[in-house]
Parts: sequence; structure tokens; C-alpha cells
Amino acid sequence: MQRREALFLLACIPFFTACAIIPISKTSPPPSPSPSAGGGKVVNSVTVTRAQFLMGTLVEITAVASSDAVAQASLTAGFQEIRRLENLLSTWIETSELSRVNQAAGLKPVAVSAETFDLLRRALEVAEYTEGGFNIAIGPAVRLWNIPEAPRIPAASELEMAAQYVDYRRIHLDPTRRTVFLEKPGMRIDIGGIGKGFAAEKAAAVMREIGATGGLVGVAGDLRTFGRRADGTAWPIGIQHPREAGKILATLDATDEAVSTSGDYERYFMQDGVRYHHILDPKTLQPARLCQSVTIIAPDATTTDALATGVFVMGPVRGLALAERLGLGAVIVDAGGGISISSHARNRVKLSP
Ligand code: ADP
Ligand code: MG
Repeated sequence: MQRREALFLLACIPFFTACAIIPISKTSPPPSPSPSAGGGKVVNSVTVTRAQFLMGTLVEITAVASSDAVAQASLTAGFQEIRRLENLLSTWIETSELSRVNQAAGLKPVAVSAETFDLLRRALEVAEYTEGGFNIAIGPAVRLWNIPEAPRIPAASELEMAAQYVDYRRIHLDPTRRTVFLEKPGMRIDIGGIGKGFAAEKAAAVMREIGATGGLVGVAGDLRTFGRRADGTAWPIGIQHPREAGKILATLDATDEAVSTSGDYERYFMQDGVRYHHILDPKTLQPARLCQSVTIIAPDATTTDALATGVFVMGPVRGLALAERLGLGAVIVDAGGGISISSHARNRVKLSP
């Protein structure tokens, strides 16, 4: 890695407090405007980047397009798309579709948009793949831990109570009526482990429609890339070291794919020398203990976000086996700091010295 890049990364990390993956695209030579060959004639490529606070985190989007107007318009549309999805899906917003689903738990099925239905269907699919490691019915337990807002260790009796409500098989999706029904009162869907990837995926699609030729959408630890940078190269991505703040564990170049990292090092608190973090094992409702960090590389960000969380719970052995079975890239740091890389990613992920 060039010295200039390294300096940039160190400078950028305090800024990306909620970010487990660091896009290092800004380190490229200033590409705007730079002439490049396109269909025999010379076209200009313009690169623009903007950041906004959305979905409770920093969202940073970069667009590459043939003109400044198109690049700016695609950025604006990307942010708008994420804001729209936040209003649809956030369980912090009482009027969102998902909040209405949660409010009707045990009472009645709720009709939802095709998008919400699709997101929940995907979430339940990943729950099956990960043998329940990924579980959007985890809501009541997430509320009890409330990390990082008001961290405290819930009493065993509280967790026992919550355990009655975290069975994802009691989330019923009816594709004919397009309704969602939570079987028991007290159940609560939490999409914290999949929603940001879903939003990054949708924002990238909208940017493409507007005319961006390349882009990078970063929603905290979930990145979606498409096309190429203005200089024709892929998007360089750095994976944060889970125990050494400011250190990059590994790098890779991505094009038309997503990279998500779930880690135990950003949303956590320490008590009596024990780390309590925000990814819960649905079996124990305690923070999952088998990994420090999991990065998944795959064509779409909904999958990478959910699988990074799910594989984190499964742990390095079962998690790596799943990545191999699905043919996905995975970089797993186990509880002792050991690193495993799936065969799909081995040739492209460069570990830092
Ligand atoms: P981040 O939100 O930091 O990007 P993740 O994508 O791993 O990290 O999502 C963690 C969030 O997912 C938690 O804050 C919580 O809302 C939710 N969650 C916690 N445990 C699970 C789990 N086992 N399955 C699904 N979602 C979970
Ligand atoms: Mg996730």
C-alpha cells in the first residue's frame, strides 16, 4: 500500500466511527475530469462524493459519470432512495411499515409493499442458510441489551422471557396477500443486520438508472460497488482490523459486487473485562462469542449484510463451510484472532503485513 493511502486511511478512521469497511477510493489520483476512451470518442469522467447521516449511521456515496450534472443527480437520487427506505423500514420510525407489522404482533397480518415483503423473504432465507444464526425475530433481545445506547447486562429472567419471542419460524409471510404476521404478541422484527445492505443495493440500482457509470455506496460496514472508477480501475476496499484501531487487516478490489463486515469492535461495552457487543446469538441471547469480525463478498449487498451477521454467529468452522457451499468470499477472524479466507476470496484478498 502506498504511503499516501496509508495516511489517508489513518486520517479517515475516526471519521467513519460506525464503519467496519473502509472504501479507499479517495486515494486514487484525482480523476475528475479525466479523458477516457468510450466508443471511439473521448469522454470525460467526473467523480463526486458526498456523505450524509442516514439510517443511524454515516452514508457515503461516490458516483462516476460522464458529466458533473449526472454524477450529482445520481448522488442525490442515491441518498433519496436510502431515506425513502429508512421511512419504509426503520423500526425507530413509528409509522414505518415494519413498525406497523411489529405493532400488530399477535393481532393480525399486515399488508406491506413488495419491497418490504422481499426484504423479509430474503431475511428468512438467510435464517435457514445460517441455521438460525441470522434471525430477524431477535428484536426483543436487541431491545433488552440496547447496545450501544444504554448498555447493561440484562437479567437472566429478562432474557428467558425474551426467548419466547425470538423464533423466526413464527414470522408468517403470505405471498398471495403480501402480508406479514407475527404469531405472538411481544414478537418484534429487527432488520439491523440486513437493512443497511438492502438500502445500499437499492441506492446503487437507482444511481445506475440515472446514468452513473460507476459508484460506491457505503452504509457503515456495508459497501456496494458498481462499474469502475474514472481511471478504469476497480474500487479498492480496506477491511478494518478488529483489534487494532486504525489498522487495515486486508484489502481487496471490488467491481459490481458488495462487501459487508460485521464486527464486535464498534458497538460494544466492556464490563469486568468481558466484551458485550451488538450481534446476539439467538440460542443464548448473549453476544455471539466465536468471531471478532466477518467479511462477506458477494454480488449483492442484501446477501452480504445478512450473511456477515449470520456467519458471525455460526463461527469460523460452520461459517466457512457455509461460504464454501454458497461459493462466496469470506474473511473470518475468529475469537483468538486467527484468520480464515474462503477459497472464493483467497486469490484476491491481500492480508496486511
Ligand atoms: P452493523 O449494524 O454494525 O452493520 P450487523 O449488520 O452485523 O452490524 O448487524 C447487527 C445488528 O443486527 C444489531 O445491532 C441488531 O440490530 C441485529 N442483530 C443482532 N443479532 C442478530 C442476529 N443474530 N441476527 C440478525 N440480526 C441481529
Ligand atoms: Mg449485517
